[in-house]
Amino acid sequence: MKDTTRLIIVSNRLPVVMERTQDAWRATPGSGGLVTALAPVLRDRGGVWVGWPGTVEPPTARLRESIQAAVRETGYDLAPVFLDRREKRYYYGVFANEILWPLFHDFASRCSFAPEAWDVYEAVNARFAGVTAALLQPNDFVWVHDYHLLRMAWHLRRERGGQPLAFFLHIPFPPVDLFLKLPWRRQLLEGLLEYDLVGFQAQRDRRHFARCVHALCNDRYRVQTSGSTTVIEDRELDRRTFAGVFPIGIDYDGFVRDTAAASVAQRAWYLHEHYPERQIVLGVDRLDYTKGIPEKLEAYRHALRRWPELAGKVTLVQIVIPSRWELAHYEQLKRQIERLVGEINGEFSRPDWVPVHYHYRSLGREELLAYYRTAEILIAAPWKDGMNLVAKEYCACDLEERGVLLLSEFAGAAAQLHRHAILFNPHDIVGMAEAIRRALDLPEPQRRQRMRRLRQNIHKQDVFWWVDRFLQAALQRRLADFPVVDDFYPGARELATER
Ligand code: UDP
Repeated sequence: MKDTTRLIIVSNRLPVVMERTQDAWRATPGSGGLVTALAPVLRDRGGVWVGWPGTVEPPTARLRESIQAAVRETGYDLAPVFLDRREKRYYYGVFANEILWPLFHDFASRCSFAPEAWDVYEAVNARFAGVTAALLQPNDFVWVHDYHLLRMAWHLRRERGGQPLAFFLHIPFPPVDLFLKLPWRRQLLEGLLEYDLVGFQAQRDRRHFARCVHALCNDRYRVQTSGSTTVIEDRELDRRTFAGVFPIGIDYDGFVRDTAAASVAQRAWYLHEHYPERQIVLGVDRLDYTKGIPEKLEAYRHALRRWPELAGKVTLVQIVIPSRWELAHYEQLKRQIERLVGEINGEFSRPDWVPVHYHYRSLGREELLAYYRTAEILIAAPWKDGMNLVAKEYCACDLEERGVLLLSEFAGAAAQLHRHAILFNPHDIVGMAEAIRRALDLPEPQRRQRMRRLRQNIHKQDVFWWVDRFLQAALQRRLADFPVVDDFYPGARELATER
């Protein structure tokens, strides 16, 4: 990145959440991988974060002042984009979370293609573009994040033509036959093609995007792929969009450091204290239908029925983090999960053993790290996931390197970690139960070897690597600057062993 380049980050949410306390506003700093990775870059070279402050209240002078006061803590500028209640509902609640989220995760039947949501999505994307345009200086580089803002570049180009614009999609990109269902398919693709660089989590997503552009916009754009990168040429404007693959990482060193703390070690020990011979299988998932939580429970029940000798030897600790609870689908999913937990515990519990420990709440960092550190196995079973950071965090926190990662082959992380995780198809209950059994029986030398390799990989490609590679590719736009990543197909593993 050139030394004079200022970084403008745009995401749905600001890295602070504004909450009202009586008649004052309080700013709670955001955490999470993205903020951790980008904050030092923004502080070093100067920059601005553009986003919604998390409240639908009118932007009074006092609210604006409180946001500016938070800048003293963040160390970089914040530019709020305010939304009212209706905008929050249609742009965020409906268009982003009831149309794009399900469709991009292959849940087309859960989409409600409400026409009024499109107009609001457009208007809010235009507002984000307006706020960004107002603060832009000639040397700025704009990096937009995620599915809430697919159309922002389209609006920004109309205000500020040649500014370099890049985009990263944190969730998967759907296959062409699903994408075609979108009533606004052409506008959304054309919106993305206004960016100079579009980054994806996995080859699968880049491939789907390239096929969609070819299928829908062939009249104007020419699509050419070389290795892990696609170059899309706009014949009308003589412009090019690059599409590359940048698997997001975690703050590995931060997780290792915090997990090594005595307080975490003590908690971890306490969680296992009474059951030294019992293996803990951990699940940590947001309450979301993409995460495959009911199927995971079904597979665990199947394993307990099929191998009665597992009784007393294994505990599934399933943590479900409340999320988007206002939507009816999520309430239904919660009831389904709780019914299954009740059924499994009803069928198998003994005075000295409860097979599922279920928590429906957010965990504090220390508690989460203690679970990561102590669990012998982590199981992540999404039907589809952009990456699945929980899988990477678990490995980073396994300081003793004795754990096993059990991972859905449809998680973005599978493309990166498939050689040393145990993969399974989350639609195959019997196969998942067999994978659980295999993980429980895996001898220690193999566990160590696999976990060491997983950790090396996650350490090398951490979130700072991700930021560097993305910015380098975005600013140089030479194929040599793009990461080369595995092209991974679920099922290829079986082919490989059959051969
Ligand atoms: N996490 C959290 N609260 C908790 C437990 C976990 O915020 O109580 C974090 C976890 O550390 C991880 C994130 O939630 O960073 C989940 O990310 P992931 O990519 O696995 O799934 P997503 O929820 O983004 O679909």
